[in-house]
Amino acid sequence: MSTPLQLLIAGGGIGGLAAALAVARAGWGVRRFERAPEFTEVGAGVQLGPNVTRILRAWGLEDELHAVAAFPDRLQVRNATSGADLGTLALGARAVERYGAPYATIHRADLHRLLCRAALQQHGVHLNPDHWVAGLHDDGRAVTLTTVAGQQIEGDALLGADGVWSHVRQQLLNDGPPRVTGHLAYRTMLRQSALPAALRTAQVTAWLGPRLHVVQYPVRGGTWMNVVAIVHGAVPPDLQSWDHSGHADDLARALGPVCRPLHALIDAVPGASVNPYAWRLWALAGRAPVQGAHQLARGRVALLGDAAHPMVPFLAQGAGMAIEDAAELARALAMDAVDVPTRLRRYALARWQRVARVQARAWRNGQIFHSTCLMRVGRDASMRLLGERLLDVRWLYGG
Ligand SMILES: Cc1cc2nc3c(=O)[nH]c(=O)nc-3n(C[C@H](O)[C@H](O)[C@H](O)COP(=O)(O)OP(=O)(O)OC[C@H]3O[C@@H](n4cnc5c(N)ncnc54)[C@H](O)[C@@H]3O)c2cc1C
Repeated sequence: MSTPLQLLIAGGGIGGLAAALAVARAGWGVRRFERAPEFTEVGAGVQLGPNVTRILRAWGLEDELHAVAAFPDRLQVRNATSGADLGTLALGARAVERYGAPYATIHRADLHRLLCRAALQQHGVHLNPDHWVAGLHDDGRAVTLTTVAGQQIEGDALLGADGVWSHVRQQLLNDGPPRVTGHLAYRTMLRQSALPAALRTAQVTAWLGPRLHVVQYPVRGGTWMNVVAIVHGAVPPDLQSWDHSGHADDLARALGPVCRPLHALIDAVPGASVNPYAWRLWALAGRAPVQGAHQLARGRVALLGDAAHPMVPFLAQGAGMAIEDAAELARALAMDAVDVPTRLRRYALARWQRVARVQARAWRNGQIFHSTCLMRVGRDASMRLLGERLLDVRWLYGG
């Protein structure tokens, strides 16, 4: 039997793990290098559209997903100032009926663990924590990764899945840092049982206000609730390592006068002394939509997830796109009849237009969500009028 080809992966987030799993399933050996010595759990959730849960099911993860995720029955959009209902999209059974797969909401740590366990069950997967990727060299015959500690590891292909501040991207494209958007994201999770009944939820609610929006949804089978509030604000200089504890007072000030139910929800978030997932704060960064396949792969090196196409979270698809990338990468790497650079080029060609469209739509959603004055009035009126037709993104969820 011939030795399997080897993929080196820089970065062990959701994208890196999904790629390790998918590519190992396609018969490659995988060595993943993650700079963090151990996985740390932050209180943040992710929404996974049917385009993503369909892939997780194809990887045999349906039962695991059902054990840890929640499956909200609808998405409701409300005006953050007046509390008025602007539109609703049925999820739950309707999403399954329409797209053949559910709409799920999950704690990031649960998704991370699920992918990690599944990857480790595959033959030939090595996950190496505490390995900081410092450099790469593609000599045409093979690619060599260098770690900060000076180790050199050779493989047949290298994947940069090292996030929005990707080092691999800079070595490959040298296109400078991502753009800081001026948005601050406050994230927390809270136990639903600790909330008054009126504040608990089994749905996704998006509250839209002037220069702000807040999204809440259940995770962990509905026992916990994820809340993320995105506001505009001053961005700190130490961006790359910036993940701070957030102060409820600062958030309340940034939100300004919001309607009573939203105010009550923000007020109900327990402080750090009793809540392991008290408010954390991130500054958002992104890039203009991908312009061609050449930005996703060159020679024996490819990019995936936020390293390839960082996006603002207004369409809730960054992790979803990383998982879609992983599925496509595995398909391309399985093409035995062509050489490795051609396989990576096929991956890039298959992905770039879709991720560019998602990036562009996410930017546009941001403008709509945070609109002020007349544009905001127009937004509310068209949402009331068109409701589901505006909220359902068929080309995206249909995949
Ligand atoms: C507020 C907010 C809400 C969001 N909500 C959603 C949502 O609902 N749905 C959704 O799909 N997406 C959502 N996203 C986006 C999603 O979180 C990201 O797109 C996704 O996590 C990207 O995964 P990744 O693996 O590409 O990158 P990351 O998760 O950033 O992982 C990169 C990994 O690489 C490691 N690394 C970095 N540099 C090196 C190096 N030199 N050597 C070794 N390792 C390195 C890092 O330590 C990290 O573990 C949201 C994002 C934000 C900010």
